Amino acid sequence: MFRFYNTLSRTIEDFKPNEEGKVAMYTCGPTVYHFAHIGNIRTYIMQDALVKSLKYAGYEVKRVMNITDVGHLSSDADTGEDKMVEGAKREHKTVMEIAKFYTDAFFKDFDAVGNARPDVIEPATNCIPEFIHMVETLIEKGYAYVAGGNVYFDTGKLDDYYVFSSSVEKDDLEIGVRDDVEEDVNKRNKTDFVLWFTKSKFEDQALKWESPWGVGYPGWHIECSCISMKHLGEYMDIHCGGVDNIFPHHTNEIAQSEAYLGHKWCNYWFHSNHLNDQSGKMSKSKGAILTVSLLQEKGYDPRAYRFFCLQSHYRKPLVFSYENLDNAVLAYNKLVKRVSELKEDGAVDEIAKKDFENKFCEACSNDLNTSMAVTILYDALKADINDATKLALVESFDKVLSLDLIGHAKALGEGASVDADLEAYVNEAIARRAEAKKAKDFATADAIRDELKAKGIEIKDTRDGVEWHLL
Ligand SMILES: [Zn+2]
Repeated sequence: MFRFYNTLSRTIEDFKPNEEGKVAMYTCGPTVYHFAHIGNIRTYIMQDALVKSLKYAGYEVKRVMNITDVGHLSSDADTGEDKMVEGAKREHKTVMEIAKFYTDAFFKDFDAVGNARPDVIEPATNCIPEFIHMVETLIEKGYAYVAGGNVYFDTGKLDDYYVFSSSVEKDDLEIGVRDDVEEDVNKRNKTDFVLWFTKSKFEDQALKWESPWGVGYPGWHIECSCISMKHLGEYMDIHCGGVDNIFPHHTNEIAQSEAYLGHKWCNYWFHSNHLNDQSGKMSKSKGAILTVSLLQEKGYDPRAYRFFCLQSHYRKPLVFSYENLDNAVLAYNKLVKRVSELKEDGAVDEIAKKDFENKFCEACSNDLNTSMAVTILYDALKADINDATKLALVESFDKVLSLDLIGHAKALGEGASVDADLEAYVNEAIARRAEAKKAKDFATADAIRDELKAKGIEIKDTRDGVEWHLL
């Protein structure tokens, strides 16, 4: 039985989809006003592992994701400026240029870590008529009202707005709303949220559409409800996101969806925890954004970053440091080397294979215990079975882990062990070291050598120049 923690019930539940053997899944996509940092990508790695684990367990999965290219204000509680406009101003580009650039950048990193793309990817700006229809229905049903030119959802009409929380946590949840400095006087209740904006204090909102309430643009939360229903229908099995989406975003999604539909909407809510750096939660507002692409430029293999994420449980905060990542890189490289040494030495032992596959599936089905799944991979490599069976198991497990162990092992075997990114990084580091040595800055030169060594790269000065190899 597949089971995982459902934020709605705050327990680990057996998973029972609406339709036997099929899973309708929705993922909140990125707001494409800036780069996605490695913490955002961690969330998508864990969701990808969930999708692939469900498939490994025999389910058919349809997964939908939105791209937020309008309506997400700088505060999740509907105050501030549209993030897209903010991005466009920052970079002196149009909103659509910003959307295109950061959507491409997002998928570059999303793909690089071995994630499979969702079956449907829908930008919010594609669905304006659907949003308007939903808002009209909510007004008709008495759940929404027009005030000061905007349309608001009336949270006071619900018996259980705080579906995700116990009464104690309710106070914590409200803090986010209370802390908003700009009080919106149009709201009947503090937790009411905007479904459609026409009056914004920012006159230069570039993207606007005609609506029954005037020219304007949709709120952020309505997107996800609408786009999921468009592709998955009125009943959904699993909704995914990061823990910071729980309130207000997912709380509001449930409020408006169930008010609109008149019945329960989504049965399981899957939330992954934050990636923290030494200073706390990663965010886009604190200086340079650490992306997967940036890690690649520094010589890190994106699959090693995935390995780093899979070794920890999705519900626990994970601490990122280069030291922690370096340890994962070393372990990943050893794993690749181990796989590269396996030979096709006969027939696969189908019984032993099935036995390991069952254990692996059990780990994945047990609240997505990916670190246990990785342990089972190690157990298989150590087991008293022939290499052909081990290779078959590596291939089988990689359907979920997506570490590309066989691909990397092949490259290692062919002597092309070093990918172009790594080579560029090492050459750049060697050049920096030569520069430092020339300036008699030996401390820097030594630091560069140590930096390389920490990543498993040894350099040697020879008469013909600097040589290097992987440790
Ligand atoms: Zn969403």
